[in-house]
Amino acid sequence: MKDSKEILAVGSIAYDSLKTPNGNRERILGGSCTYFSVAASYYTNTSIIGVVGDDFDQKSWDLFKKYNINTDCVEIANGQTFSWGGEYNHNYSKRETLFTNLGVFEHFKPKINTNIKNPILYLGNIQPELQLEVIDKVSSPYLIAADSMNLWIDLSPNKVWDLISKVDIFMLNNEEAIQLTNNNNLEEIADKFLSMGPKIVIIKMGGDGALVAHNNKKNYVTVVPNTKVLDPTGAGDSFAGGVLGYIANHGMDDPIKAVIHGSAVASYTVSGFGLENLCQLNQTELTQKINQINFK
Ligand code: AMP
Repeated sequence: MKDSKEILAVGSIAYDSLKTPNGNRERILGGSCTYFSVAASYYTNTSIIGVVGDDFDQKSWDLFKKYNINTDCVEIANGQTFSWGGEYNHNYSKRETLFTNLGVFEHFKPKINTNIKNPILYLGNIQPELQLEVIDKVSSPYLIAADSMNLWIDLSPNKVWDLISKVDIFMLNNEEAIQLTNNNNLEEIADKFLSMGPKIVIIKMGGDGALVAHNNKKNYVTVVPNTKVLDPTGAGDSFAGGVLGYIANHGMDDPIKAVIHGSAVASYTVSGFGLENLCQLNQTELTQKINQINFK
């Protein structure tokens, strides 16, 4: 992949247990870093930073290998891999966290033994303290992008604000953005985030698409129409993989196009359980999906 930037990502690598109106799954591979990296791997070389426990199985390692994802910075620690349980309501409009077991992530100290030059650094959803630590340890990134989640906004909102002030691209979903700011107006929230430093703010709105704010402009990008949702887990992370994958190849000048890619890639994730459909992405079909997405 000549001329494209490489991506370095940190985030959770997890076993997920999911309850959806269309079926349940127990301990399937997931995590913000996992969804992100598989999505980004369709665009550019991707390396991940994280930790797994001694229960992490060969099938899971093979998945990273299949997508050529560099796991040299993934530590294997004594203990349990991060695990998370989530349940969706009848129309997928709400998700409840059933449990979050940090396991080996609780005492994780990232060691970044990579010599990637000027990577795109993605700080996927994990403790904001860890995200901030990774910023300090990676020298001269081309750009830094970050996401977060309700648990961290509940536990350490100040750290999340700190994070926002240190990144070039900040993404959050609408409910979390409202929770963090106590404001219901997404455009005002985007302005607030922009005023703290990021050049691009993306507020994800699930099936309603995404709001992109940059350069004093705000645009709304739709999702792929008629996508049947089976399991939205990982949608946000694979969306980020598409956004940063596009930027790795084309730079930051057209964030709307980047978000269109994110939206198209996420449509694969939501239409299967876990990583199942994201792993079936096909470039011709991806282009067709991209062409069905609009913005205004
Ligand atoms: P998303 O659906 O994009 O919000 O991401 C869901 C993924 O995030 C799941 O695969 C979980 O393993 C992972 N996850 C859930 N809660 C957390 C958390 N508090 N910190 C990090 N990752 C999490």
